[in-house]
Amino acid sequence: MAEKETFEMARKSCFDLKDQAWHDESFAFAERYRNFLNLSKTERECVASFAKMAVEHSFVEYIPDETKAGAPGYLFIGKEKAVALYRPGKVPATKGMNIVIAHIDSPRLDLKVNPLIEETEIAQLKTHYYGGVRKYHWLSRPLAIHGVVVLNDGSTIELRIGSSKEDPVFVISDLEPHLSYKVQNEKKVTEFYPGEKLNLVAGIIPDSDEEAKNRVKLAVLDILHEKYGMTEEDFVSAELEVVPACIARDVGFDRAILGGYGQDDRLCSFTGIRALLEAETLARGGVAFAVDKEEIGSVGATGAQSAFVLNTLAEILTLEGERDELTLRRAAANTNVISADVGAALHPDWQEVQEKNNAARMGYGLALTKFTGVRGKVGASDASAEFMGRIRRLLNEAGVPWHVAELGKVDEGGGGTVARFLAAHGMNVVDAGPPLMGMHSPMELAAKCDIYATYLAYRAFFERFL
Ligand SMILES: [Zn+2]
Repeated sequence: MAEKETFEMARKSCFDLKDQAWHDESFAFAERYRNFLNLSKTERECVASFAKMAVEHSFVEYIPDETKAGAPGYLFIGKEKAVALYRPGKVPATKGMNIVIAHIDSPRLDLKVNPLIEETEIAQLKTHYYGGVRKYHWLSRPLAIHGVVVLNDGSTIELRIGSSKEDPVFVISDLEPHLSYKVQNEKKVTEFYPGEKLNLVAGIIPDSDEEAKNRVKLAVLDILHEKYGMTEEDFVSAELEVVPACIARDVGFDRAILGGYGQDDRLCSFTGIRALLEAETLARGGVAFAVDKEEIGSVGATGAQSAFVLNTLAEILTLEGERDELTLRRAAANTNVISADVGAALHPDWQEVQEKNNAARMGYGLALTKFTGVRGKVGASDASAEFMGRIRRLLNEAGVPWHVAELGKVDEGGGGTVARFLAAHGMNVVDAGPPLMGMHSPMELAAKCDIYATYLAYRAFFERFL
């Protein structure tokens, strides 16, 4: 007897939809992603990783007024902290492009501009947190320092201390329970560990001069000078980020989840860029952006609100000999965008903050989010019904597992993405990315099948979407 036809929306996980061969591929893809994640813990390290991948695919770095058309692809680097890869498609870029845009900054602790202090004969490095940090995540766990220091002679050194096994690590030591009754236990989670106490333990051996002040600080400065040629003033011209010293690990008996730091949103930047590089041919000119500063409002010269986005498109048009403003504006208005960012996966212990019919589900593939925003969609981009229709058809035709998502129950929470900043140029934009559990924690969880589904979705978008 034939099954009765129903008109209910299908809700099946990747495990029920896809065969073993597909899941084997998803595990293999996750290994490539894991390697990238372990090497790329800051924006600058992500840019370096992506530039290397682009060069491996014969992309050339774009130099204004020098680079000519005819290369397989082009690499645009924005002040070492944002990147765009462009591949020509079957139609001219002036007709509009397909963009996947993700961000490569993640919540972390930045060293203060003048960070080194000594208290009770212990050297410490003071920090200022960046983005949506839950401060307790950073206590009593091994931390690494990654970044750059520009010395007084103008040379730049790269630091990466704590991510290799032989390196020392740094620790913000939490207060023991025996002493925390009055100063911590009665306080709210946002207040029990003040930002000014997020200081890293950085040394205890004093300078040999017993008459000197701050002997431990002086001894640490000696080490910094000997190892890196640094003086204390060099911290002023540095960008040093405190990141978890851990590596990405398989999670669970079945190893189907990858846990690691910075998956929001390096997961989408990696899948977006791999999709662009590995697409067979492109329906339209394809651009994969990986931008900075999303976690603090997409600001600055390297964020999604900056001129980097439109300037890159303008430079792409010059490869086709087009330089005027109106052509650029028209191309932008005919451009389709996937705002590639992670969604909040339904948490088994905290189901009450989500509305299950509209929650991202781990294992269910790409989460398609029509709108984000808070308290009445404030700050949302809100994809049109027409664009949602075309994207849904694309995913169905390409056989990519997907489902719909919102960020939490109405009035429960919410958030924003870069979507609205691109929509402001008249582009069609939709948010789409994998579900993530424990977002903004040092151990974010993503299902390998969802990582792979995200890659396949972005790839189908570049290959097929007109
Ligand atoms: Zn994000």
